[in-house]
Amino acid sequence: MNTPRQLAILGSTGSIGVNTLDVVARHPDRFQVVALTAHRQIDLLFQQCVEFRPQYAVLDSPQAADDLRARLRAHGLATAVLHGERALEEVASLAEVDTVMAAIVGIAGLRASFAAVQAGKRVLLANKEALVTAGPVFMQAVQAHGATLLPIDSEHNAVFQALPRNFSGDLAASGVRRIVLTASGGPFRDVPLDRLHSVTPDEACAHPNWVMGRKISVDSATMMNKGLEIIEASWLFNADESRIKVVIHPESVIHSLVEYVDGSLLAQLGNPDMRTPIAYALGFPDRIEAGVEGLNLAALSQLNFSEPDVTRFPCLELARTALRTGDSAPAVLNAANEVAVSAFLASQLRFDRIPELIEHALSAVGIAPLRGIDDVFAADLAARECAQSWLARKGAGATPQPSRLSA
Ligand code: NAD
Ligand code: MG
Repeated sequence: MNTPRQLAILGSTGSIGVNTLDVVARHPDRFQVVALTAHRQIDLLFQQCVEFRPQYAVLDSPQAADDLRARLRAHGLATAVLHGERALEEVASLAEVDTVMAAIVGIAGLRASFAAVQAGKRVLLANKEALVTAGPVFMQAVQAHGATLLPIDSEHNAVFQALPRNFSGDLAASGVRRIVLTASGGPFRDVPLDRLHSVTPDEACAHPNWVMGRKISVDSATMMNKGLEIIEASWLFNADESRIKVVIHPESVIHSLVEYVDGSLLAQLGNPDMRTPIAYALGFPDRIEAGVEGLNLAALSQLNFSEPDVTRFPCLELARTALRTGDSAPAVLNAANEVAVSAFLASQLRFDRIPELIEHALSAVGIAPLRGIDDVFAADLAARECAQSWLARKGAGATPQPSRLSA
């Protein structure tokens, strides 16, 4: 057995973070936890520190950090407790860390994910928004600093598994015709279109197959998640937008496929449980126990597929447009989406108006080249301001409280 991997887990209290620690706990000989970070969930971070005894813990505010430090000291733990965004970057680039799980949600995770890349770490990337917003800058830094990027998103992890092991970024040279991303279609796949205006945040977050954080759950309901994943796949696998196909697959059993020029389709299948892609990336190139049962194929009996409905899911096409436009367009798309999703979750924007807000930002905000990470944040800010002023003018028509879905 090699020396244990030294982990920093950014966003350890989130859905991906908790699943990561679940896998890590199964392999005390393989992994040591050096740093854990959370935004505000002190109680859970405290419990995680007690169980995994990291050298560092990070929270957002100084008060929260003081509180956690006092609790850890009272428990006899000497964990250094830091706070703020700079501290996230610091723990992501610590010399004693070799592997970083980047699992903060949204562009809030970009600086720390980027710091891990710049420090040449092995980066397990769940924070898809980092790659969506900063794609060219991010991939250039991966090359320049010799970082290793391992995808956690189940679709991209599946594609990674189905590509040749020696894949070097040239799909044509590997005989790949296209990448096929599967999508469940989310909770509103079959809801009558004229009911979409009245769906509530809790209904949007009730994903049929996956248990996830609220932001990505809403993205799955609009299918912006798949749109972001098209952009993510284009950077990870150096694929033109036209080579990335999306197919609806309600069972979420096939996590994605690679189609080769000879007509072969290679798929990765499994129960919808994020511990599988997490374990694959944590252990790579070894396969390690993830606590996930294999599929019972006979019990499944059938799998279904269909084309996505572009009228129901306009976000898919908005994301494709942003990818084709390039430069800062995906950052604008992402920022407008983050504003729209927060407003929807706060019952300040109707579900069916999310795409309208994003479309407005894409047409109203000037698109500029990305020369570095600062340009990404400038585009993000401009799009947020544009989206906020749209919301102030047109956001009325909040999500109705009582659900009419089951009526
Ligand atoms: P989540 O909301 O459950 O957790 C987010 C984590 O980030 C928490 O630990 C939170 O404390 C931290 N965080 C949030 N805002 C922060 C801020 N401003 N500064 C510092 N830390 C902050 O989210 P999740 O579902 O675990 O998703 C994490 C990332 O993984 C997202 O980018 C998501 O798209 C991606 N992802 C998630 C899943 C899934 O199954 N949950 C699947 C694929 C990809
Ligand atoms: Mg996914």
